[in-house]
Amino acid sequence: MEHQVELLAVGTELLLGNTLNTNAWDLSRLLSGMGLNVYHHTVVGDNPQRLQQAVEVAKSRADILITTGGLGPTCDDLTKKVVAGVFGLPLEFHPQCQQSIRDYFARSGREMTDNNLQQAYLPKGCTVLENRWGTAPGCAFCVDGVHVVMLPGPPRECIPMFREEAAPYLAQLTQGVIHSRTLRIFGLGESGVEQLLRDRMNALINPTLAPYAKEGEVELRITAKADTVEQAQTMIAPVEAEVRGLLGDLIYGADVSSLEEVVVPLLAQKGLTLGTAESCTGGLIAKRVTDVPGASAVLRGGVVSYTNAVKHQVLGVSQAVLDAQGAVCEEVARQMAQGAMRVLGCDLAVSTTGVAGPDSDERGNPVGLVYVALATPEGCEAVELHLGGAAQRRDRVRTMAANHALDLVRRYCQKK
Ligand code: AMP
Ligand code: MG
Repeated sequence: MEHQVELLAVGTELLLGNTLNTNAWDLSRLLSGMGLNVYHHTVVGDNPQRLQQAVEVAKSRADILITTGGLGPTCDDLTKKVVAGVFGLPLEFHPQCQQSIRDYFARSGREMTDNNLQQAYLPKGCTVLENRWGTAPGCAFCVDGVHVVMLPGPPRECIPMFREEAAPYLAQLTQGVIHSRTLRIFGLGESGVEQLLRDRMNALINPTLAPYAKEGEVELRITAKADTVEQAQTMIAPVEAEVRGLLGDLIYGADVSSLEEVVVPLLAQKGLTLGTAESCTGGLIAKRVTDVPGASAVLRGGVVSYTNAVKHQVLGVSQAVLDAQGAVCEEVARQMAQGAMRVLGCDLAVSTTGVAGPDSDERGNPVGLVYVALATPEGCEAVELHLGGAAQRRDRVRTMAANHALDLVRRYCQKK
């Protein structure tokens, strides 16, 4: 039987935008990983009428309802009372829960106020989900074929309680796993990827194929549902091969989180060192490379050459070119990269120079005009980028410029 899960987060703070509903994010991934279909996320404030309505709706369309929040000792913590009410269960006092709550306070050396004992009232006949990370116990029960699991709101209680207490309860209800492989693409937008793959995406049911746009990159996720991870992997492999056939080296990695995560091991593998000469990215490339463990083996160093004086004095960029063309031009990008190679003693050097915005520069160069260059023992290549567009955002221009620079390095290394 296919289960249908609804996540119901309770808390006015979530509706006000004071707290991000990270529980939904984490629980959805965990549930999907268990082979359970999550069909709805609902958020409702600490209001008994609206909470009751939300539970009634969930009860009518899901057979697994997981609530988070509202189990605490204060008067806005209504979840147990309201949910139990919808399912026709009274709350009953659990002496062993009372003891756990008293023990928790004793352990943490804090005074317990009487309202904390309210947390020991749970729906009649439920399975208690012990809270070893805080005070409010969770619970699980099944009425009329609907399984209900109630978890506390604080993520550091909710998630471990789900993993250790609720997941084993739910595992009895399900068979199979959902497994994904994520291909990361740079150099083609989401709509371009979709256009190339639309027919395949529409035809595929299991595995499914879906693109997600991410800060100038596209993630393509192949997801299979099967009895075991190995079976899912076997189903994913031919789809991956087909996608790779269509997208080729636009795919820079699989199950990796960033270009730098691919670039650092590639440089190490090829025995090459890297240096940077950054103007508009202000050190972002070097920062991203050093985010990756093992960067010390491949990164020689970087020069943040923000002013023309530093471009000229440190990197040796021609003053005549700077005077004639300004800092934002291809020739300066090339000379920056070549200068970095010389000054830093590295095998490869990347450079960026451009207009990050929000305003165009004094020469009238538009926001988003960026030159990126890569100097190598074989020569120097440069690209002109137009990263402006409708959403001209300084951080986006800089991130994209860094992406392009890292991708130049990636492509060079892969051809080596
Ligand atoms: P509660 O269990 O409703 O008393 O929630 C306690 C605290 O947990 C709240 O003040 C929030 O900071 C946090 N919290 C509640 N629900 C969520 C949620 N869905 N995601 C992330 N944090 C939450
Ligand atoms: Mg609350």
